[in-house]
Amino acid sequence: MSFDPKAGPDVLISEVGPRDGLQSVKATMPTEHKKRWISALHDAGIREIEVASFVPAKLLPQMADAEEVVRHALTLPGLTVMALVPNLRGAEAALAAGVHKVTIPVSASEAHSLANVRKTREQMIDTVREIVALRNRTAPGVKIEAGISTAFGCTIQGLVAEDDVIRMAAWCAAAGVDDCGLSDTTGYANPAQVRRLFRRMRSEIGEKAGAAHMHNTRGLGLANCLAAFEEGVRVFDSSLGGLGGCPYAPGASGNVVTEDLVFMFEAMGVRTGIDIDRLIAAREPLKAGLPGEPLYGMTPEAGLPKGFQQGVSHVS
Ligand code: ZN
Repeated sequence: MSFDPKAGPDVLISEVGPRDGLQSVKATMPTEHKKRWISALHDAGIREIEVASFVPAKLLPQMADAEEVVRHALTLPGLTVMALVPNLRGAEAALAAGVHKVTIPVSASEAHSLANVRKTREQMIDTVREIVALRNRTAPGVKIEAGISTAFGCTIQGLVAEDDVIRMAAWCAAAGVDDCGLSDTTGYANPAQVRRLFRRMRSEIGEKAGAAHMHNTRGLGLANCLAAFEEGVRVFDSSLGGLGGCPYAPGASGNVVTEDLVFMFEAMGVRTGIDIDRLIAAREPLKAGLPGEPLYGMTPEAGLPKGFQQGVSHVS
């Protein structure tokens, strides 16, 4: 593998901590701290951040300030500001707030779909169609991603048939989304499964095959990201400090740790466009905003290897 030093990043790291992370912890990060944290992430070179989800504040008080957080993120140059929207009302609010991209969670598991959005999978595809129509009418420049959740297994129904996952991706693509990612919501995935599913999805929907969203619940987050990379995936969701976790599984970590993911790619000579030292510094505003919350990550604890030079290809 050879890389042109003048070319842009080879992979896009999409930081989901301010959404996926913050909505999984009990405490609510004050708005001013969220803004500082997002600015620090941008300062490190992160160019896509899922900053909030547009859901009723009574369901998720952690996200009550979504609009204000979006307004702040929109001031950061070159940043794609993303928000999660589970329904049409959320999409209306997110588009009105001016986001560049929305992501819609679409469960591959029927049981998870009913529990999470109280809709069958077919009903959820109708919602996707409505959101696409709204976007086409009111904000044609905004990108829409479908994130196929529970794509690798479900805590409620257990096994999720791979055919179901691929069918949901095909339906979302046909409904008009711009890209379709696969999410290991439950941390069940393994690298062989990741390769198989991303390969099948690409052969089914071609260029609309999108991001890998991996959790590190069983320690396979990085292995799964590498498997996806080898299958041609170039967009990866991750969370600073692996923020997230599950209140019902003490000690379980959440999303793939951004610091470790960036280190892995940079060490391989795969450019992320992100400065690791500044990325690690972005943990400070996170810690200040969520005192006492455990953060994960091997690279921040161990430090960079002696003689490690970022941006230099280590591939011979
Ligand atoms: Zn997630």
